[in-house]
Amino acid sequence: MAERAVRRVRAPEDQATPGAGGPLGNLRAAIAACRICRDVPARGPQDRLPHEPRPVAVISAKARILIAGQAPGLRVHESGLPFNDASGDRLRNWLGVSRDEFYDADRFAIVPMGFCFPGYDLKGSDLPPRAECAPLWRSAVLRAMPQIELVLAIGQYAQAWHLGARRQKGMTETVRNWRAYFHVNHGPRVLPLPHPSWRNTGWLKRNPWFEEEVLPRLKEHVDSLTR
Ligand code: SF4
Repeated sequence: MAERAVRRVRAPEDQATPGAGGPLGNLRAAIAACRICRDVPARGPQDRLPHEPRPVAVISAKARILIAGQAPGLRVHESGLPFNDASGDRLRNWLGVSRDEFYDADRFAIVPMGFCFPGYDLKGSDLPPRAECAPLWRSAVLRAMPQIELVLAIGQYAQAWHLGARRQKGMTETVRNWRAYFHVNHGPRVLPLPHPSWRNTGWLKRNPWFEEEVLPRLKEHVDSLTR
């Protein structure tokens, strides 16, 4: 089941040769088989993932844009399709793309900080991405996609990984400082974004500069990198 989840949005070269190996195919298969958070959680048995892991990621040989999100929610865990929810609808609106374009693995790679739904905390909110996942998989996944030109770092966990010490103290200041990460001379550009969740609707109202300044540049670059 997990392998189907990782491969649900498949790169065309794999669609042409189902079951094909190669470096990307092997990496996808290894991630699909990962059960670390259920079987040997880093913080001990009390932190065991309480459900069967279902890694969800789109690893692409051709996409020039990487969507670096947090972790799947329950709906994505059940469907195996990343951003298959209201957050995804808002994100597609920010990008200016249709569902078909968004799920085209030649256009977008989608690699969250944690590949599996982490479960809920005592208040019923999604837990953070599993701490085991990024150290285990992320560098290998990024090395496998050297063609990426733009990283959309959604939320504090992706911003911490992709910006490191360049990140500002809080998410708002990091996003406000977007030009410093965007106008780089080497390596992929990183554009920090808030999570497109309904929970951030108030943040969007309090920070109108985001829709006025950032989204037009985002749409412009997405258009040029996905044509
Ligand atoms: S969250 Fe990552 S490390 Fe944990 S089981 Fe899923 S794929 Fe493996």
